Amino acid sequence: MQIYITNSLSKQKEIFKPIDPNHVTMYACGPTVYDRPHLGNARAAVVYDVLFRFLQSVYKKVTYARNITDVDDKIIAACLSSGVAFKELTERTTAQYHEDMQALNCLEPTHEPRATEYIPQMIEMIQALIEKGHAYEVEGHVLFSVGSFSEYGKLSNRSREEMIAGARVEVAPFKKDPADFVLWKPSAEEEFAFGFDSPWGRGRPGWHIECSAMTRAILGDSFDIHGGGADLMFPHHENEIAQSECSSDHNHFANYWVHNGFLMVDGEKMSKSLGNFKTVKEVLDEGEEGCVIRCFYLTTHYRKPIDFNQKAIEDATKTIAKFRRALAGFEGVAPADAEFQSYLADDLNTPLYLAKMHEYASWYLRDGNAQAQLKLASACKLIGLDLKQKEMVIPEEVRNLAEQRNKARLEKNWQLADELRAKITALGFEVMDGKSSDDVGVVKLAK
Ligand SMILES: [Zn+2]
Repeated sequence: MQIYITNSLSKQKEIFKPIDPNHVTMYACGPTVYDRPHLGNARAAVVYDVLFRFLQSVYKKVTYARNITDVDDKIIAACLSSGVAFKELTERTTAQYHEDMQALNCLEPTHEPRATEYIPQMIEMIQALIEKGHAYEVEGHVLFSVGSFSEYGKLSNRSREEMIAGARVEVAPFKKDPADFVLWKPSAEEEFAFGFDSPWGRGRPGWHIECSAMTRAILGDSFDIHGGGADLMFPHHENEIAQSECSSDHNHFANYWVHNGFLMVDGEKMSKSLGNFKTVKEVLDEGEEGCVIRCFYLTTHYRKPIDFNQKAIEDATKTIAKFRRALAGFEGVAPADAEFQSYLADDLNTPLYLAKMHEYASWYLRDGNAQAQLKLASACKLIGLDLKQKEMVIPEEVRNLAEQRNKARLEKNWQLADELRAKITALGFEVMDGKSSDDVGVVKLAK
């Protein structure tokens, strides 16, 4: 199967050719574990999970590594301000991350390296960079010398001025060049307990070197796919390339760079720093199902921004309800389906994929075509839409009212339908109707 993927390095849709035709290697930047993931963080996890599942359906073996950043200034600051022990905070937050990703039906990656377990590899890489003239030590810091790597900027294609401004480089008089970035940072006195011993004194690694060291340890110098959010392209991914390629014999680092777009709220990127975020857990606690959130993400192509709003979640809820109706009572084994694979093979075209699922669901609901139902089941399986995940419990009384109301709508008895809706609302539930009167209304808990 010919697979196309948009490579951020070339800005082109390219034919995907793994280094080893029988074994695909991929890496995605994982969470920094200081608090619960928000919906923007989870989008990346779902996108790379779909890619992982799809590649597994095509290749003999796929190794997917996603790291846990458990050493970082934000974690240290959270520990110092709350008094919670470092290990306690990172373990708890990692467990929460796993819980939320499981709710979204993301598979566990093949490897989930924790940064704190790869400190020796990071130190070794920094030493190699110093030896090769790509890094220098000054005042307990080790900095990467950006001027020493002529290809710096090849991923983000930024001018030097943009890079300096974009990196929000802190004013540090000891830097030889304002664009130089930190590989190792000394611990301040109150941070000693959070530090690690190194040839440059007690300190901690820079964030960028973590991913470079972990990818090398697990996937080798060169591997196939590196993924992450679009906001990581610069400086994080640019710096990963510089570190990895300069500390080896300029081996090519990742061959395909895949970036997912932002999750937007009212036209702004959802982020912790803007304070406009919702955690996955909050949305689940409001009664939304994991498969609904997952479906919502897949309605938009992964490279594009996606807008989070009530309407979008309602649409995904209706989609899931329709698929459930079409698959009610389905007990068969859904085989891999070449048609649905082909949509994913085209740079993960999930909007088209979902549109085709709708077509097959409608077909089955219209005339009970078994082939259409089998197609739909296969399609659900391939992208990890698990419709059997816990459904919200709707009381018998409410379900009966909803059923009567659906009947009234079919008979175009709008007055009765409205009266029944009022009764449902009075019981604390709401009804969302499909596009046409023969689409069954979906009942859910009112907010
Ligand atoms: Zn990374």
